[in-house]
Amino acid sequence: MTLLDGNALAGRLDDLLGWDATASPVRCTHCGLADLLATAAVYATAMGTVVRCHGCGGVLLTVVDGAEGRTWLGMPGLSAVEMRRA
Ligand SMILES: [Zn+2]
Repeated sequence: MTLLDGNALAGRLDDLLGWDATASPVRCTHCGLADLLATAAVYATAMGTVVRCHGCGGVLLTVVDGAEGRTWLGMPGLSAVEMRRA
């Protein structure tokens, strides 16, 4: 397992969502902390990526790659994500 900061997600989330969500403020469902996703702790393994809140350690987001180009993006610990309108 490799521990990275939230900035490591920038390219991956841009590929999946079409925008860099690491620059966005997010709110943790577990503790209510609101901060940039870039400040979260990213744990990368061969099985997938788990992103944890830097305040409480709760799971904010998961990314798991499967066969045939499929990816599952889970957001069990994000109660809000701030996005900019164009
Ligand atoms: Zn938290």
